[in-house]
Amino acid sequence: MTDFDHTRALFDLPEGVIYLDGNSLGPLPKGVAARVAQVVTDEWGKMVITGWNRAGWMDLPSRVGDRVGRLIGAPRGTVVMGDTLSIKVYQALASALEMRPDRRIILSDTGNFPSDLYMADGLCRSLGPDYRVKTVAPDAVEGAIDPSVAVLMLTEVDYRTGRKHDMARLIAKAHEVGALVVWDLAHSAGAIPVDVAGADTDFAVGCSYKYLNSGPGGPAFIYVAPRLADQVRPALSGWLGHEAPFAFDLDYRPGAGIERMRVGTPPVLQLVALDAALDVWDGVDMADLRARSLELQGIFINRVEAACPTLTLASPRAPENRGSQVSFRHPDGYAIMQALIAEGVIGDFRAPDILRFGFTPLYLSPKDVTRAADTLCDIMATGRWDRPEFHTRAKVT
Ligand SMILES: *Cc1c(COP(=O)(O)O)cnc(C)c1O
Repeated sequence: MTDFDHTRALFDLPEGVIYLDGNSLGPLPKGVAARVAQVVTDEWGKMVITGWNRAGWMDLPSRVGDRVGRLIGAPRGTVVMGDTLSIKVYQALASALEMRPDRRIILSDTGNFPSDLYMADGLCRSLGPDYRVKTVAPDAVEGAIDPSVAVLMLTEVDYRTGRKHDMARLIAKAHEVGALVVWDLAHSAGAIPVDVAGADTDFAVGCSYKYLNSGPGGPAFIYVAPRLADQVRPALSGWLGHEAPFAFDLDYRPGAGIERMRVGTPPVLQLVALDAALDVWDGVDMADLRARSLELQGIFINRVEAACPTLTLASPRAPENRGSQVSFRHPDGYAIMQALIAEGVIGDFRAPDILRFGFTPLYLSPKDVTRAADTLCDIMATGRWDRPEFHTRAKVT
């Protein structure tokens, strides 16, 4: 059994705050600051450039990738870290499209994160006029999978509503018609059990600064199925994905397997932060995490629905159709969230009307969640969200 009191003690949470935004930016695990400081002082400071070899900086993208892989059901040597998620989406899509040269359509859904759709659009534009992104409603995806589709590109858990796709089923359907699949696991990795190998996905990508707590701007990951890894042709053919970067050949030759999905110089300090942050997962069973997450979500939904009738549940009611977040709608969602944050309960707002709450069992208890719901309902009952200062929009919501 996973000991959630133990995992909670591994985080440095701000005093007096109930943090329901780990789905957007994970909080600071205790071991991270010292590890990063040590690498800065002892490795960068003392070894300077020799650190690439002596401290193993160059191997961090695949070494840390293997640790992330364990949390998403990826075998060793199939995941590599680097860049941001938007870049990894582009990379996976470009390689997938190239493997289906007689098809022109990327199928996605209207619940996808806009950056994924923008990247797909930009890629289509540079490939030619026949390429296009087709988006349908999330529940119409299955019916829209047909032999014209080159790539099915979906985010497993909807960033606004928390609705979860049936990954294995959609992969099977796509493969039946000869399409490839790219899954975005931004709201899955570290949030719910994932089995990329078992579900037989072709590509998967995701970020590390949400549920994996690597800190702002932490690197993304990419997984390529071993059966494809030596065939994919990287569109972002950077020197560190080359077979022999330090041969400085004028011609590009892709590196072995997943190594070819590396692009440029790895963000060493952010990888070190992630490596230290991943220690909190030692001894965590993903099935326990899932059960606890659903327990916390259930407490929150019941309490909010019982005491704040003006908030409407935006997430699926059936627990098995949710990821690890719960959302409610209200036309004044922005101001309500600002008022809640002012009282130490941090969630976030997504336009036009979504109040978003992430449930992260590693550091949230049933007591926290009860208190968060009670604070929210008290703010609603008294109307104290409706002050002018709560209506002023900041740059990041
Ligand atoms: C958070 C998120 C992103 C963000 O991409 P970055 O390039 O890391 O800024 C992209 N896609 C999805 C689905 C996300 O949830």
